[in-house]
Amino acid sequence: MSDITFQTDYDITHLTTFGIKVKTALYAEYADWKELTRICRSDEYMENEVLHIGGGSNLLFVHDFNGLILHSAIKGIVEYDRKDDQQTVFVIAGAAEKWDDLVQYCVEHNLAGMENLSGIPGEVGASPVQNVGAYGVEAGDIIHNVEVFDRTTRRVETIPGEECGFAYRDSKFKNEWRDRYYVLRVSFRLHRSEIASNTEYGALRGLEQRLGHVPTLRDVREEVIKIRDSKLPNPAVIGSAGSFFKNPIVRQAYYEKEMLIACPDIPRYRVDEVQQGSH
Ligand SMILES: Cc1cc2nc3c(=O)[nH]c(=O)nc-3n(C[C@H](O)[C@H](O)[C@H](O)COP(=O)(O)OP(=O)(O)OC[C@H]3O[C@@H](n4cnc5c(N)ncnc54)[C@H](O)[C@@H]3O)c2cc1C
Repeated sequence: MSDITFQTDYDITHLTTFGIKVKTALYAEYADWKELTRICRSDEYMENEVLHIGGGSNLLFVHDFNGLILHSAIKGIVEYDRKDDQQTVFVIAGAAEKWDDLVQYCVEHNLAGMENLSGIPGEVGASPVQNVGAYGVEAGDIIHNVEVFDRTTRRVETIPGEECGFAYRDSKFKNEWRDRYYVLRVSFRLHRSEIASNTEYGALRGLEQRLGHVPTLRDVREEVIKIRDSKLPNPAVIGSAGSFFKNPIVRQAYYEKEMLIACPDIPRYRVDEVQQGSH
C-alpha cells in the first residue's frame, strides 16, 4: 500500500487556464478510488477545506488556496458494444482524460455523438458537473452513467445519467451533490457512424451545402474547432475561462415586442435549443 504524497505550498498556476500565479497549501493526486479513500481518511483531508479540480478551465483563483486541492489521475478510454444493439457503443473514460482527447478518440473511431463538443478545454471528470455543451449538444445528452466516490460513505457508486439533473450548464453535481461526490469515470452512450447527425445548430447550419457532401464526424470536428478558434483566444496564449455568459432566457412576448425592435438581428434560440447551446 503506497503512501499518498501531499505536496505543500504547491504552485498550481499551470493547472488553470487563467494562468494567474497561485499556490495551494496542500495538493494531492490519486490513481484510483483506494488512494482516494486513503486521502479522505488523512488528517490533511479532515482538517482542511478541500477543492477538487480538473483542468482548471472553469475556475478563477483570486488568491492562494489555504487548503487541500485534489486532482484525479484516473486515465483510460474503453469501449463496450451493446450486445442487443450493434449500433450503440458505451465509451468509458477516466476523469483525468482531457475532454478533447476523448472527443478526438471518438471521432477517429467513428463513434458518433460528441463531435460537436470538440475543442472544449478541461477534463472528463468535470463534464457532468458543468454539463458541458456547445453547438447543439451537451454532455448530459450522451452521458449513460457517472461513476462517483461518495465522500460521506466513502463508497463507489454508479449514478444513471437521468438522475443527474442535467440542465443548461447545470447538474446536481453543482448543487445538492456539490460536497458529496467526486467523479471517477464517465460512461457515454454513442453510436457507430462516420456521419454526423447534429449539424443544425448556429454556425454549423448549412455545413452540408458548404462542403458539398454529408458532413462526417471529422468534418464537424474540424469546423467546430475552426469556429471556436476564430471566436476565443487560445488560453495558452491569453489566460481565460472561455465565455463567462450564459444565454439569457426571456419571455417570447418581451423578445418580440422589445428586443427585436431594438435589435432586429439579435440571434435567438428556443429554450429547448438554448439548453443545448454553447456555454
Ligand atoms: C477557452 C475556453 C472555452 C470554453 N468553452 C466551453 C464551451 O464551449 N462549453 C462549455 O460548457 N464550457 C466551456 N468552457 C468551460 C470549461 O472548459 C468547462 O466548464 C469544463 O468542463 C471545465 O473542465 P475542467 O476539467 O477544467 O474543470 P475545473 O475548471 O477544474 O472544475 C470545474 C468544476 O468541476 C469540479 N470538478 C472537476 N473535476 C471533478 C471531479 N473529478 N469530480 C468532481 N468535481 C470535479 C470542480 O470542483 C469545479 O467545481 C470553456 C473554457 C475555456 C477556457
